[in-house]
Amino acid sequence: MTDFGKFFLPGPTEVKPEILATMTRPMISHRGAEIETMMARIDERLQNVFRTSHPVFTVTSSATGLMEGGVRNTVKSKLLCLVNGAFSKRFHKAAVNSGIACDKLEVEVGHAHTPEMLADALRRDHYDAVTVVHSETSTGVLNPIRELTAAAHAHGDVVMIIDTVSSMAAAPIECGAWDLDYVLTGSQKALALPPGLAFCTANDRVMERAKASRMRGLYFDLVEIHSSWTRHQSPNTPAVSLLYALDAQLEVLMREGMEARWSRHAAMAQRTWAWVDQQRSAGLDIRVLAPEGYRSPAVTCISAPAGRTGPQIVSAMKARGFVITPGYGDLKDTMIRIGHMGEHTVAELDVLLDALGEVLAS
Ligand SMILES: *Cc1c(COP(=O)(O)O)cnc(C)c1O
Repeated sequence: MTDFGKFFLPGPTEVKPEILATMTRPMISHRGAEIETMMARIDERLQNVFRTSHPVFTVTSSATGLMEGGVRNTVKSKLLCLVNGAFSKRFHKAAVNSGIACDKLEVEVGHAHTPEMLADALRRDHYDAVTVVHSETSTGVLNPIRELTAAAHAHGDVVMIIDTVSSMAAAPIECGAWDLDYVLTGSQKALALPPGLAFCTANDRVMERAKASRMRGLYFDLVEIHSSWTRHQSPNTPAVSLLYALDAQLEVLMREGMEARWSRHAAMAQRTWAWVDQQRSAGLDIRVLAPEGYRSPAVTCISAPAGRTGPQIVSAMKARGFVITPGYGDLKDTMIRIGHMGEHTVAELDVLLDALGEVLAS
């Protein structure tokens, strides 16, 4: 990798060299006072990132682990999965493979779920939990989690299990004020850390469910994790090196401030959408897949112009030193995706968009 500012994958994202460098520090015991001091600082700062007074747990796993943990700890009898892309489909698979009774409420790829749709579905059957992906990284669609959660809670004892893997620290998320029940994310997206850590917060409603769950397993048992968390520890050996990076990166986040970070992401996203519109006005037939009002500030999925495929565009960009990615799954040939998240700036994004403009015009 060359200079910072050329790697625009929607995960993993580019990690600042000084953050990577912290990972070469020597090991410490995961049961000593030193790690407890570090974790106390990390735990408090993560609550600022998640905007909650409830605990935020740090787990050594990719984010999918906490998707699976989410459904296993919370569902009482039947789960509803809001599906609008590859990652929301994965939630459903985690439930099916865990033997949890569940239904899908599917909308077309590239679309979002509305609170009316959810309220309707909750009236049709007895669901006690709902999974939703906030920022569908496969399409760039942002689901209205605040309104969906309000609709679920208006219905009764329904727990929301929310994936914010590509939106946490990019889009405004108020876990406390919006009464979000279980919210999970991963280290390698907008938090701009290497892959390997996952985080979740759980409110009292979730912890009550977890205590009663007979299928919460061992590794993602929220009751165990919570009990260790009260001592700033983890039930088993954490990825100590990644915790060093987390500690250093949270310092960066606190210095920037969450509001400023959200604004920077909004500015990068708006710049990308405006660029697509400009290109279209200039005669290039490309568009943003997600409808206005439901667009992720972290990732944009753009249609490839006629005669070009996603992988072709991606390799032409690679030849210029930039990393982006084709559409996900079925969208691979017809789309490209730009991850404008983490530590990137509008100025760095402009350089990428200039190069993309040249590639598309050639
Ligand atoms: C990347 C991603 C995941 C999967 O994360 P892993 O860390 O690979 O397990 C899940 N959901 C969304 C929305 C993602 O973007």
